[in-house]
Amino acid sequence: MGSAPLAAVAAPEPPPEPALGAELRELEEISLALEQHTLADSTRRAYAGAWRTFAAFCAEHRLEPLPAHPETVRWYVAWMSVQTDPDGLPRFSVATIRLHLAGLAERHLRDGFLDPTGHRAVSDLVRGLIKLRATRPRRMRPLLLDDLLRVIGAMEHDVYPAGISAARDTAALWLGFAGALRRSEVAALRLTSLQLHPHDGIHVHVGRSKADPGNALPDVVVLPTGSSPVTCAPCALHRWLALVRLTETHDPTGLRRAIMRQLFGYQLDHHVCGAGTAPGLISSADLTAGTPLLRATYRNRHSGRIHATGVSGDALHTMLQTRLAAAGIDPTGYGFHSLRSGFVTQARRNGADFRDVRRQTRHRTDLMVDAYDRDYVPLAGNAVTDLGL
Ligand SMILES: [Zn+2]
Repeated sequence: MGSAPLAAVAAPEPPPEPALGAELRELEEISLALEQHTLADSTRRAYAGAWRTFAAFCAEHRLEPLPAHPETVRWYVAWMSVQTDPDGLPRFSVATIRLHLAGLAERHLRDGFLDPTGHRAVSDLVRGLIKLRATRPRRMRPLLLDDLLRVIGAMEHDVYPAGISAARDTAALWLGFAGALRRSEVAALRLTSLQLHPHDGIHVHVGRSKADPGNALPDVVVLPTGSSPVTCAPCALHRWLALVRLTETHDPTGLRRAIMRQLFGYQLDHHVCGAGTAPGLISSADLTAGTPLLRATYRNRHSGRIHATGVSGDALHTMLQTRLAAAGIDPTGYGFHSLRSGFVTQARRNGADFRDVRRQTRHRTDLMVDAYDRDYVPLAGNAVTDLGL
């Protein structure tokens, strides 16, 4: 904030109402019609959209949108600059922020007010933002497969009560990594989102993406059967869902012993997803309820419980950081999104092409995948490897 208070923008005095003759009235209509043509339709729509966003911002913060004080516009620019999409990238580019300011200016000038976006305090802020954006955006560090296996390996799976949250967290980690799902998508999954497939593993029907509401493609990702039980995402889902089923079918007195028996009986070196000779722990009949897939758990030293309420995206984020620290990995720079970016990075390092990556991540364009490449897989698709060096 600058030290000097900003001058308020006052509306100029309206011109005196002239007594219009028939000819002047006709000219007034023509002038209005001409005015409609000063802006291209696309620009008019963009300005209208910008104005709606600004008006909503003002309403939320009880600020006057018209005429807006330059301070209000500064806050709006600051707000736009920190909005991110589910991939952690800026939601408003500098060009979009400029477009919004142009929309604000147009609306003010059209209604006879001074343009608050022309204020020095606003233009300084935009210049600062351009400098800041010239540096790289901060992105969650990708978690690669080796580290993921280390995190899962550090959990106590066949111990009561720690095994309850270990089963849930392992399932969540595989959904984020193998499924390349966003944390909000993982938190929103229901039992009915899963479909056991005799050959593929598990199909996960993801709800409509917030990042891409216009996407007409069916959002289905696949959790394939692992070549080993250690890398098998379906096994992790089966183990967790077996505990959920016990919670729903046992009364509180029998539940503790039933869960203990289940956990102690886990053989972590065997498939329990139906991939081997034995049937899976759960069947399609266990997936008919619309209840949350990943639930909040409670535990103290002696007992653990699975609640009926779903986990939040924030809880998933915290879980990942805690599990990383428990595995001896510094959690700085990591979050639940590290699983999705880990999927992209690991797949690109292993030679997957853009289209194959997008098939699972459901990115609309190659741009995002390319952005990950630049940061983490600089040799992928890079002709420097074709120089015969
Ligand atoms: Zn398996």
